[in-house]
Amino acid sequence: MTTEQEFQQHHLARTRSSLRTTLIFCGFFYVAFALTDAAVLGYTRETAMLLFARLLVAITAACGLYLVRRHPTSILLLRLTATAAEIVGMSTFMLIVWHRPAEVPWHAMSICIMLIVVYIFIPNRLVISLGVAVATTASFIAIVVSIGTLRPADLLTMSMLLLLANSFGLVAARRYHRIWREEYRVQSLLIHLSVRDHLTGCYNRRYLNEVLLKTELARSRHQGLPFAVILCDIDHFKSINDTYGHLAGDAVLRTFSTVLQTTTRQEVDSVVRYGGEEFLVLLPRTDRAGAETLADRLRHTFAQTPAEWADQSVSATASFGVLAIDARDGPVSDEAIFAAVDKLLYRAKRAGRNKVQSGVLVQSRNAFQG
Ligand code: GH3
Ligand code: MG
Ligand code: MG
Repeated sequence: MTTEQEFQQHHLARTRSSLRTTLIFCGFFYVAFALTDAAVLGYTRETAMLLFARLLVAITAACGLYLVRRHPTSILLLRLTATAAEIVGMSTFMLIVWHRPAEVPWHAMSICIMLIVVYIFIPNRLVISLGVAVATTASFIAIVVSIGTLRPADLLTMSMLLLLANSFGLVAARRYHRIWREEYRVQSLLIHLSVRDHLTGCYNRRYLNEVLLKTELARSRHQGLPFAVILCDIDHFKSINDTYGHLAGDAVLRTFSTVLQTTTRQEVDSVVRYGGEEFLVLLPRTDRAGAETLADRLRHTFAQTPAEWADQSVSATASFGVLAIDARDGPVSDEAIFAAVDKLLYRAKRAGRNKVQSGVLVQSRNAFQG
């Protein structure tokens, strides 16, 4: 998904609500203003025809809103509804102007309000709003010229006022669009900063504890699918820092996190910086054998991938504790998982480091089996 699509999705609820409010208002006023047709034209066939055209605007808006309600995630449908309502609304207005030629100044005033509604209140792509507004303005001026009742000086004044309404509408609409995108960008950045570790870009421990683990465990339980975690710890990391310096140590951390992130499944697995040089990998839909195979691949890849820092190449290894979680009989506590996988990691350390050790946490027996 592109950033623009993500923004549109993020903004969808607000867009839907503002489209609904605006179209309900516009539909109501379009029909209510039929009173003015009756006042000007009397109860004639023309009035009936204009009433029908006004009802068509309200019906278009209502049908669009019904479809938007039925397909609440469709951005395309929102835009089509907005565009259709704008086009039908503005065309109807031209019909009204044509049939009530004596009130051009009032029509010019109405059109200025309608232009602002199109630019600012009906959510649509800016280029479409601009197209509708410019076409409306041009058609209106053409109709007024062909009616021929306005003096050239008045026609000029009216055209200038319409130009002014278009310019302000466009500027305000651009400002809104910019502010919304900026707000989304800042919000995304804040979310990113609050859930990620600055050095490695992995998820942080807080996000793991508050959101990630609970969500993934609940999903796996709900779907009746296996779930596994791997706790990894770089071997003798302190001596890497002592030998090559802290910045080289940071480079090793980044290399390790890159290996973890590129070897695991994007959008499925999650890599968390659990502590200084400890990382936790969450593996939904993965059983013990699968997690063990992955841990061994991670172990092997990391050992073969030295970190480059200044002109030095710093090699390191890591140890891995692999825990499969059988939560089919009920929930497993976070603490039980952390304690069990920690034991497995230290078993790998005791076994000589650069090793993988695995076990299963069974909820029904509330016990961990190595
Ligand atoms: P073991 O094989 O038993 O895991 O030994 P170790 O040296 O890796 O473990 P120890 O816990 O003794 O040392 C961890 C070191 O990690 C100590 C700490 O200074 C370092 N460390 C923690 N966070 C960072 C960091 O962000 N950058 C760097 N460069 N070092 C860090
Ligand atoms: Mg270590
Ligand atoms: Mg450690």
